[in-house]
Amino acid sequence: MSSRLLLIGPPGAGKGTQAQRLSQALGVPAISTGDIFRAHLRDETPLGKQAKAYMDAGDNVPDSLTNDLVRDRLSQPDAAEGFLLDGYPRTIDQVRALDELLAESGQAMDAVVELVADPDVVVDRLKKRALEQGRADDDEAVVRHRLEVYAEQTAPLIGVYAERGLLAKVDGIGEIAEVTERIASALAARGILFTA
Ligand code: AMP
Repeated sequence: MSSRLLLIGPPGAGKGTQAQRLSQALGVPAISTGDIFRAHLRDETPLGKQAKAYMDAGDNVPDSLTNDLVRDRLSQPDAAEGFLLDGYPRTIDQVRALDELLAESGQAMDAVVELVADPDVVVDRLKKRALEQGRADDDEAVVRHRLEVYAEQTAPLIGVYAERGLLAKVDGIGEIAEVTERIASALAARGILFTA
């Protein structure tokens, strides 16, 4: 059975951590547009140079660049039977692009997991991550801006996927393994089972 999933939630809700665990348990690749952009930044590719100012400011990289990148990644053989998107789509335009892309090969999303987390909690988590990993966009002012961008541009997607009957809301606060369990039961209720 295929699992085409996406994780949605504010920065700092634990999407990256859960995506890694779910990817293993479901046997599908975790695809994080943030990680892909960071790799381009590090390697100073042309795309990295275009994306840098947006990322440093905590703004979304323009949809056209992001959509092309995802089209390219989802065409790789490892994504043929399923994937777990982390941090994409982030805008209504990206939802449209993803819908089109999947429709071209007769595919569609199977479920959307919303990781729910209180803004105060995520700010604290990201402050910690700033100390541990030194991500420039984890600076407190940039974090606040990223939360605003999330509220304005990404939160509306939750309603879109809820209307399609794809949304599973999961409390993102708690031990890592506990949150994974909650996601597992939400997915199992939709017939999507862990294989490992
Ligand atoms: P993340 O690791 O998901 O928090 O992403 C880090 C940064 O990468 C974001 O603040 C954006 O600048 C950029 N980015 C990641 N995913 C997207 C996306 N789907 N659309 C636009 N920008 C993105």
